[in-house]
Amino acid sequence: MADFGGDTVDAFRAEAKDWLAANFPPSLKGRGGMMYVEGGGSSDPAVKAWTAAMGEKGWGVPTWPKAYGGGGLSKDEARALQQEMNAIGAWNPIGGMGVMMFGPTLIEVGTEAQKQQHIPSIVKGEIRWCQGYSEPGSGSDLASLQTKAEDKGDHFLVNGSKIWTSGANLADWCFCLVRTDFKAKKHDGISFLLIDMRTPGVEVRPILLINGGSPFCETFFTDVKVPKENLMGPLNGGWTIAKRLLQFERENISASLGQGGSPTMGQATGGVDAMAKKYVGVDETGRLADHDLRRRLTDHLMENQAFRLTGRRVADEAKSNQGPTAATSIMKYAGAKIAQDRTELIIEAMGHQGLGWEGDAFDPSELATTRAWLRAKANSIEGGTSEINLNVVSKRVLGLPDPK
Ligand SMILES: Cc1cc2nc3c(=O)[nH]c(=O)nc-3n(C[C@H](O)[C@H](O)[C@H](O)COP(=O)(O)OP(=O)(O)OC[C@H]3O[C@@H](n4cnc5c(N)ncnc54)[C@H](O)[C@@H]3O)c2cc1C
Repeated sequence: MADFGGDTVDAFRAEAKDWLAANFPPSLKGRGGMMYVEGGGSSDPAVKAWTAAMGEKGWGVPTWPKAYGGGGLSKDEARALQQEMNAIGAWNPIGGMGVMMFGPTLIEVGTEAQKQQHIPSIVKGEIRWCQGYSEPGSGSDLASLQTKAEDKGDHFLVNGSKIWTSGANLADWCFCLVRTDFKAKKHDGISFLLIDMRTPGVEVRPILLINGGSPFCETFFTDVKVPKENLMGPLNGGWTIAKRLLQFERENISASLGQGGSPTMGQATGGVDAMAKKYVGVDETGRLADHDLRRRLTDHLMENQAFRLTGRRVADEAKSNQGPTAATSIMKYAGAKIAQDRTELIIEAMGHQGLGWEGDAFDPSELATTRAWLRAKANSIEGGTSEINLNVVSKRVLGLPDPK
């Protein structure tokens, strides 16, 4: 729908309000967070119905083109939709890597056939994607990756392994970086391949994490046959696509860090200041009783507010620039630090209650908080480490010379 100004947006807002009233199950009010059911993962009939309705309407990805099932909304209409959803406690059930990183990249560089094949299922939340980038020995130095794809006429034969593949055990498809030329310079021999996770030869082993969860995996490829039409972008031209996808990834990670980092932490705390007051107590004027903690908490809240406002500016600039830029590295770096500071402050305020792991001595929200604090350690690693993002800022944003 084109954006012709205020009247059009008002008309759309009224339409959205009516549609939400008719379709959002009131029992799901405020139960958002990580409940999206990408890949049909929820057995709750209300969640399934809500996902189907949003998927049919295309409003889970409101600004994606209508031609592939997206909402086709202008950014003003998308904002109005979000405001109407917020007003009734509704949440977007369509998410995951397909929405956050792969889909936007596919829209930019995929063939028409690839878009027709993959975007509608992402829009409807039917298919889960995972990211096959990192390898043992190729994390920050991603371009050194060794998983190889040999040209066998009508298909590529893929052999190698990936690591830290989030959600690979649940994924239907993997967007994967593979080496297709071993003689070229390392950045020039990489291709971007789409691999069906049900293909014979794909094996996934979950990795247990420090916080008790197991959200990511080792993924092995042994003589996996991948049809040639699953190559996205030019042969040996995958590095440019890989970097573009990372910009979408960093934009999304920093946006979520600005909203509290970990959904568990957000739900558990009801806000870092409220949490600190609950555990530390208040003085006679209602202020946090511990003077030093109060000063650090105030610094943190101001930083967080500045981060959120800057995030909105960067997001607006990204829209007028046709997508995210290297500035996403600034936001990813700052967001990771702020999210980790937040969890540290909460755990400090909770004292020994912040050390709970299991057992009746702790409130369930306290146990969730400890796990969220540990999960936050990954914020400065996932999607590119803080050091690597600083390198990107120095080179691509500030234009500083390479120290080597
Ligand atoms: C929660 C989580 C989810 C993840 N999900 C995925 C996923 O789905 N798919 C996927 O492919 N990967 C995933 N990763 C992997 C992630 O992308 C890598 O862990 C990350 O890129 C760092 O690589 P590495 O672990 O090999 O560390 P290394 O590259 O070995 O880095 C080790 C340390 O050295 C520093 N360092 C390395 N090179 C430089 C340099 N040039 N300058 C300065 N410092 C440097 C790093 O900053 C870091 O502190 C995930 C990671 C986490 C934590």
